[in-house]
Amino acid sequence: MRIAVAREIEVCERRVALIPDTVARLVKQGLEVWVESGAGERSFFSDPAYEAAGAIIIKDSVKLWSEADILLKVSPPQEREDGRSEIDLLKEGAVLVSFLNPLGNPVVAQQLANHKVTALSMEMIPRTTRAQSMDALSSQASLAGYKAVLIGAAALPKYFPMLTTAAGTIAPAKVFIMGAGVAGLQAIATARRLGAVVEAFDIRPAVKEEVQSLGAKFVEVKLEEETVAAGGYAKEISETSKQRTQEVVAEHVKNADVVITTAQVPGKQAPRLVTEEMVAQMKPGSVIVDLAAEQGGNCACTEPGKDIVWNGVTIIGPINLPSSMPVHASQLYAKNVTSLIQLLINKEKALQVDFGDDIVDAACVTHAGEIRNQRVRDALQALNTQESAVS
Ligand code: NAD
Repeated sequence: MRIAVAREIEVCERRVALIPDTVARLVKQGLEVWVESGAGERSFFSDPAYEAAGAIIIKDSVKLWSEADILLKVSPPQEREDGRSEIDLLKEGAVLVSFLNPLGNPVVAQQLANHKVTALSMEMIPRTTRAQSMDALSSQASLAGYKAVLIGAAALPKYFPMLTTAAGTIAPAKVFIMGAGVAGLQAIATARRLGAVVEAFDIRPAVKEEVQSLGAKFVEVKLEEETVAAGGYAKEISETSKQRTQEVVAEHVKNADVVITTAQVPGKQAPRLVTEEMVAQMKPGSVIVDLAAEQGGNCACTEPGKDIVWNGVTIIGPINLPSSMPVHASQLYAKNVTSLIQLLINKEKALQVDFGDDIVDAACVTHAGEIRNQRVRDALQALNTQESAVS
């Protein structure tokens, strides 16, 4: 069976799906691994390093895509420079493993189904103990949380730690983290390591202890509704609860030097947590880093992919932060993907997609011409309804 690693053509994608170490492990298992020439270049893994690990370097990308049994990628498939879609290059029945954003962009799922590709979406891996080694959302979110703090610290015209010097005492920076999931918890840990005083807020009360164990203060908002959905994720909350949380968090936003927002609700636009009024109350020179910029932003002033200054406050809306640390992002993603591949091969080293396995079942969004996932089908239908209403 042939596993192929594609070179990412998305400009802001510097990660690669397998690194030489993981290639060596798959080759040792008796699998054939093809790597597109230059696939690891932007993450500092050279063609010779892949070759030394036992990979076959393929220069012709059409050959690589069309002859792969399992095609590995990081970003969703794209339109190529020659105008052809990467999806169209795959052979019928091939398996694609990648981030696919099927809830945000269900059209890709439709194209994959039309092309009879078996597509496994890394976003759909269940957040269970057994699937932990495959949990790419977590491995990448943790990198984003770390980097968000560094970006915030670099943009702040102040020190982070408390310093007592001959020239006087410097007070520590105040950092407020909104959303204490995987990214938020890593942001808390990073800001604490840099010496800041940290507060954090989340609508899921269960995170209080984790926040406190990292040395941050938990900002509690008592809501009268259930805030946790299936799988431990946050639910979209009612307008009344939104107002209630905004009243409580406004004071903390106002006093913060750096606000880092990470709040998401799967399949929905990011919740609006920081209003214009709140930004207007912040001290000039303070900084907001909005990790939800790509999903519409947690802050009303965020512009995705841009750093702007609004009323003296710097608002940073980074896109694809994990890609800015491509060495470790690729290393962790490669481990996630390699663990998933183990579920797709049988003892004879042949491809076997077993829907009796709960992880394969949850992650597989298209197979044999069908979109298998109800939430993706619903997202596609909602999009089609919206488009026909406009036309
Ligand atoms: P996420 O990226 O979907 O959201 C980030 C955080 O934003 C979450 O903590 C969420 O509660 C919070 N949030 C959403 N709406 C909010 C609002 N209006 N105000 C404030 N905060 C808001 O989440 P994630 O980091 O991917 O993790 C989500 C869940 O998955 C958590 O329960 C986490 O513990 C769980 N998880 C489990 C495993 C595992 O068991 N293997 C692994 C990773 C994550």
